[in-house]
Amino acid sequence: MIEIQGLRKSFGTLEVLRNINFSVAQGGVVALIGPSGSGKSTLLRCMNLLVTPDSGRISVGDMEFDFGSRSPRPRTRALAAFRARTGMVFQSFNLFGHLTVLGNVMEAPLRVRRMPAGAARDLAMAQLSKVGLADRADQMPHTLSGGQKQRVAIARALAMEPQVMLFDEATSALDPELVGEVLATMRALATAGMTMVIVTHEIAFAREVADRIVFMRDGLVVEDGPARDVIDNPQQEATRSFLSHFH
Ligand code: ATP
Ligand code: MG
Repeated sequence: MIEIQGLRKSFGTLEVLRNINFSVAQGGVVALIGPSGSGKSTLLRCMNLLVTPDSGRISVGDMEFDFGSRSPRPRTRALAAFRARTGMVFQSFNLFGHLTVLGNVMEAPLRVRRMPAGAARDLAMAQLSKVGLADRADQMPHTLSGGQKQRVAIARALAMEPQVMLFDEATSALDPELVGEVLATMRALATAGMTMVIVTHEIAFAREVADRIVFMRDGLVVEDGPARDVIDNPQQEATRSFLSHFH
């Protein structure tokens, strides 16, 4: 479903991603872990083309991009089509404050997918049901808890009917008592067969929900294996050292 080969990205002289290779099978759930600054967010942003890689190849589903000096720059329309295949959820929910919950979730179906209003509403309500917030459809975002806001953000990403969902520390900005409901929503998505890449510091969640864990350090994939093996019995000293901070 997702394949990344030889991906590189520098900001100025800082090499943030150095030859990243990994793949995610259809329905697979990969947790991306690693120290601050290791390049996790940059990698996720490359997968959504929010950041343009310097070189390497990314494919999602049936679309593939080859980046590098010899490749022509992808065209805007192709970029948009590719981006629509990935749904991204950030630490900060970034809901539209002037729209209701339903309005937030309908926005992309209406404006990006140009669906008729009735169909966009049905789709949005279906996604709100998935995250357990159908009964909040008419509320304004500021009346919701942080956990509810993040679940609306997840429903909004799902409304593009992406082939892959990318989560960048989706629970890091939440009060501890609100983390559980968002993790439960993510767990339900994984169980329903969604292909997911999750950047998280919730190691117990990663061990339980992900089928693979990719550990990054300094822009490199240091370890990549079955979730329980990597967490319970890391093969690399760097992984061991990182995980020791969570016990
Ligand atoms: P964290 O766990 O703190 O979120 P991360 O693993 O997600 O870290 P990135 O955000 O990918 O790390 O950042 C990797 C490195 O790239 C950092 O040194 C960061 O300062 C740098 N970086 C990221 N984005 C940019 C940018 N747009 N311009 C310049 N440097 C950047
Ligand atoms: Mg990050």
